[in-house]
Amino acid sequence: MRKKLIAGNWKMNKTANETKEFFEELKKYDLNKDVNMVICPPFSSLDRAVNAAKDIGVAIGAQNMSDQESGAFTGEISANMLLDLGVEYVILGHSERREIFNEQDGYINSKVRYAIEKNLIPILCIGETLEEREADGHFDKVKSQIEKDFENISAEDAIKVIIAYEPIWAIGTGKTATAKDASEMCHFIREEIKKMYNDEVANNISILYGGSVKPANVNELMNAPDIDGALVGGASLKAEDYSKLVNF
Ligand code: PEP
Repeated sequence: MRKKLIAGNWKMNKTANETKEFFEELKKYDLNKDVNMVICPPFSSLDRAVNAAKDIGVAIGAQNMSDQESGAFTGEISANMLLDLGVEYVILGHSERREIFNEQDGYINSKVRYAIEKNLIPILCIGETLEEREADGHFDKVKSQIEKDFENISAEDAIKVIIAYEPIWAIGTGKTATAKDASEMCHFIREEIKKMYNDEVANNISILYGGSVKPANVNELMNAPDIDGALVGGASLKAEDYSKLVNF
C-alpha cells in the first residue's frame, strides 16, 4: 500500500527566520500521521528547517543538487552537504530548472542516479507545456522524459524514485489539471514504468501530482486513482494551508 506524501516546494521564498516561524506555527495543528510530510525550503534555510521540523515528523528536502562529489563548481551544493544537514529528499528536474536554467534530461538523469547512490530520495519532476497538451503531445512528452530520466537506473533503484507529474501550464497559474486528467496521466506514467521495469516497480513507485494544488482541491485530487500525493508550491508557504493539505 503506497502511503500518501504531501511535499511543499518553497522555491526562492522564506529566510531562515521565517522558516523557523513556519514550523513553530505548524506545531499548533494536528497533522495527519498517515501522510508522509516533506518541506523543501531554500538551501539557506535547510539547517534551521531540519532542526525545527524534527519533533513534528516533517522530513526536509532540497530543491536541487549537483551531480558532482565536490570541487570547482561555484555556487553548487553537493549530496554530502545535504546529508550532513539531515536532508532526506531532493527535488530534481523541476520545470523551473529545466526552463529557466536550461537543465536537460541527460543532466537530470545524472543527478537522479547520484541522489540514489547517496541515499537521498529524488522527487523527479516531469510534465508537458501548454502547447504540447494542446497539440495532443502530452503523453509523448512525458514518455520521453521517463525514458531519458530513468536511463541506466536498475529496477531496484527505480522504485526509490518519487515521480511528480507537474503539467507546466498548471504551475503557479491557478489552473489545476482536473482530477480526471491528473489521474489519467499518473496512470499512464505507471504503465510506462511497468513496461520499462516490472509490476513490482510500477505498483510501488510513488507518483505525485503538482500544479496549483490548494486546500480547496486537494481532497478530490488525493482520492483519484494512481495519485499518491502532491508537490505543492504556493499553498505550502502558510503553515495553516499546509496543515489543511496534509489533512485532506
Ligand atoms: C511547484 O512549484 O512544484 C508547484 C506545483 O507550484 P504551485 O503549487 O504553486 O503551482
